[in-house]
Amino acid sequence: MIKQYLKNKNLTLPKAILFDTDNTLYEYHPANKAAEEAAFLKANNLLGINRKTFFENYQKARLEVKKNLSNTASGHSRLLYFQRLIELLGFRAQLLVALDLEQTFWRTFLANAPLFPGVENLLSYLRQLKIPIGIVTDLTSHIQLRKLTYFGLEDTFDAVVTSEEIGSDKPDKRNFELLLSKLDLPLTSNFWMIGDDPYSDIFGAKKLGAVTFQKIHNGVILGKGEQLPDFSFKNFEDLQALIQNLVKI
Ligand SMILES: [Mg+2]
Repeated sequence: MIKQYLKNKNLTLPKAILFDTDNTLYEYHPANKAAEEAAFLKANNLLGINRKTFFENYQKARLEVKKNLSNTASGHSRLLYFQRLIELLGFRAQLLVALDLEQTFWRTFLANAPLFPGVENLLSYLRQLKIPIGIVTDLTSHIQLRKLTYFGLEDTFDAVVTSEEIGSDKPDKRNFELLLSKLDLPLTSNFWMIGDDPYSDIFGAKKLGAVTFQKIHNGVILGKGEQLPDFSFKNFEDLQALIQNLVKI
């Protein structure tokens, strides 16, 4: 079911649809949890550290990196988290271990991140309709491109922007502006933004006049006030049905 919150929108087919990636195309938290667990097992094996020590110091490392690199793509870098974790544990630089933990993390993450049902159908339907589709996502390009490739979506999108390209995460409007410019669309275009995060995705894209759709599932809270989306939905099948109805009009 699609819920509408802002009644004044006369919905028409958009000139482009922009998608967030993490926790929008797939559920983030189970993948991240499995990946952290695999990294712990690897660290336990390589460095002999116990669970409590690992997770306490991983959190500490993560917060330090995020503080130093606030709101940038590298602020999400697992390589930086693991490098700092190893330092906090009192080891000398263990570069191979840091790289190994990062590889283990992302390999496990991807293996535990199935696309939501209906995502692939919706994307191929939009391609049939020749509606341009793009990705606007936070984190470094290397892993985000790897994710999209792993999902089998390497040839699906017309353009991709990661926050590494801009130097600042969403809701920094330059992310959305760069994607529209890659799609050869003026900033005033009628475009839709599909994302889970009320601040980064909904508030960010609303500032540029987008029609916003918030993807709701486990743990995702509907935005309020300035972060209230125009619409929310739980299933991609429902979003596709809404578009099919607009095509018929
Ligand atoms: Mg997201």
